[in-house]
Amino acid sequence: MTETLISVKPVLGIGACLAGKAVRYNGQTKSPNEHVRSLGDAFELRSFCPEMGIGMGVPRPPIHLVGPADAVRALDVETHSRDYTDALADYARTVLESAPRLCGYILVKGSPSCGYDRVKRYAHNGYGIASDQRGIFAAALGRVDPLLPLEDDGRLNDPGLRESFVTRAYAYYDWKQLCAAGLSAHKLIGFYSRYKYLVMAHHVGAYQRLGRMLADAGKQPLAELAAEFIVEFMDSLAQRATLRSHTNVLFHLAGYLKRTVPGPERQRLKELIDQYRLGRIPLVVPLTMLKHHFANSPNAYIDSQVFMAPYPDELKLRNLI
Ligand code: SF4
Repeated sequence: MTETLISVKPVLGIGACLAGKAVRYNGQTKSPNEHVRSLGDAFELRSFCPEMGIGMGVPRPPIHLVGPADAVRALDVETHSRDYTDALADYARTVLESAPRLCGYILVKGSPSCGYDRVKRYAHNGYGIASDQRGIFAAALGRVDPLLPLEDDGRLNDPGLRESFVTRAYAYYDWKQLCAAGLSAHKLIGFYSRYKYLVMAHHVGAYQRLGRMLADAGKQPLAELAAEFIVEFMDSLAQRATLRSHTNVLFHLAGYLKRTVPGPERQRLKELIDQYRLGRIPLVVPLTMLKHHFANSPNAYIDSQVFMAPYPDELKLRNLI
């Protein structure tokens, strides 16, 4: 059944074995790590097993990737006589068409179907050649929807990758909601206006390019502009935010308090931002102080900034040094 786009929580796809379903070739599940589990609080998780989805059943003969790097096939390990490549790739389209609310996907480390990267590749004689592949289903997901944020359970152990994935998934969800409600040039400019400081924290060059792109909004058809915009926008959020780039944004935001917050309190805020810049305290500390000041001296523009809360605080992604 096709879903509607009305949702309260963003939806992530997840490999069914990671979601506790006994769908691996040997009838086992795979334990999700604590970081994957924690995402269940902030997202609705929808599980898919591509190998089950194409009718391989369980238990089933295991498969692996075989052949040259630019033309691997997913073959059964034992005989190399059964080829599942095209069916697994086609299943990506089935998933995306059946779940239009998906705004990210948690893949499964090392899987020839669902691995994000470094999946093993074998020669036709069965010897391992390299670990340089993306799983067949995972690669097709990226081709069918290049904007969809992808990570695997192993990579989500990295705090920076985890934060980037969650940020992009929430932003993509926001974008899908905007498009579902009907896009206009005015709404597109309003969307970017809310994301300016978040984009600045990830990539100053993209922040400037997106600003220029929208300054000329009337000069090209809206659909064309929106397509260009969202590619650059999602690419910008895929860049890692750094201590330096976050510090830059924090000082920009602090600048809005010049007229409303007394000098000694602004000095205390500056000291906290400096402590953050030196890596001594987590981002949440100066940010909490900023929020406190903006609660006392509201500013509608800053209130609208996604940078202040790009995802639920409970995920604690800004609490790490
Ligand atoms: S890795 Fe993918 S194909 Fe394999 S069992 Fe898990 S969900 Fe199914």
